[in-house]
Amino acid sequence: MAYLDHAATSPMRRSAIDTWARYAGELNPGGQYASGRRASAVLAQAREDVAELLGADPVEVVFTGSGTEANNLAVRGLYRSSPLDRVVSSPIEHPAVLETVKALAVDGAQVDYLPVSPQGFVTDLSALDTPAAVAALMWANNETGAIQPIEQAAARAQESGTPLHVDAVQVVGKLPVDFRALGVTTLAASAHKFGGPRGVGILLAKRSPAPAPVLTGGGQERGLRPGTVDVAAAAATAAALREAVAEMEDAASRVAALRDELVRAVVSTVPDTVVTTAEPALPSHAHFRFPGANGDALIMLLDTRGIEASTGSACAAGVNRASHVLEAMGVPERELSGALRLTLGRTTTREDIDLVVREIADVVERARVAGSL
Ligand code: PLP
Repeated sequence: MAYLDHAATSPMRRSAIDTWARYAGELNPGGQYASGRRASAVLAQAREDVAELLGADPVEVVFTGSGTEANNLAVRGLYRSSPLDRVVSSPIEHPAVLETVKALAVDGAQVDYLPVSPQGFVTDLSALDTPAAVAALMWANNETGAIQPIEQAAARAQESGTPLHVDAVQVVGKLPVDFRALGVTTLAASAHKFGGPRGVGILLAKRSPAPAPVLTGGGQERGLRPGTVDVAAAAATAAALREAVAEMEDAASRVAALRDELVRAVVSTVPDTVVTTAEPALPSHAHFRFPGANGDALIMLLDTRGIEASTGSACAAGVNRASHVLEAMGVPERELSGALRLTLGRTTTREDIDLVVREIADVVERARVAGSL
């Protein structure tokens, strides 16, 4: 079996599983007694570790229930804490940001979307020159892997005094992140993308301007994320991040080499392949379009041959819809359904790539027959 959907989720690292098991019995870190102090010390250490690994202060680290929640808290919370009603974002954001921005628009926000090139990069940052309540831009796109000009966006937003939120869910654990040096207001990450547990998000949030809380409740996590914190999950997240950062350079070059080989082989064996992924891109991503192919058939046929992959776009109840990312890039209608995202990770082997190379031509041919029906 070849698992090639690491951008969706990556298997938990042994270190994270062990750390989780070790602290699973901890009690409430808010408790004012010995067991509470013990749990609180474990949580404080996890917070310090995450802060150190991402170039933040411990107080800036907020543990949430997912990357989606971290994005919601930042975008909604910064909007709510500002007197302005303007929002800047991009049309290629993950739904965690895009749907949040759309919800703000329904409530009266004026949204400006940054334009996107056919290669999947935001091109013109001038919308950031006018002050806004919040600007939200992803660091790397989850479908194509395209790395966005986040440093330039940070500088432009700083210049106009606009708080910038960065969705770094696909980047944390894969590329170096220095929150302080980047100078953005908030940054979201998700543990399950770098070998931590699912159901844990990280929001890095400067002290000021700080997002207003979205949930009401207790004062945990600076009052930004009320609810008793899952100490074991936080510790497992820190353990996974430590390992991911330590391996980062070697993993990136190993994975990029396999990915490049895969792209070359697919292009040479499948007629009329369009490679969507353009540089600069994450080393893990290979996104293809096979014009005329049926996307659901592609995924199902690959599955029958032991290859687990996806189209990369959010699917509702397992049914693929045309990707809003590809639409924003101006991809022709005919190419929208035959999309395939193969994403590699630390468990990916040469055998996985060989299996895809053996099967892909026949799978695409059959998916094209299904697409012509
Ligand atoms: N943002 C991006 C870019 C993502 O790729 C994802 C997950 O696919 C998310 C946000 C949501 O993260 P989570 O699954 O932790 O809610």
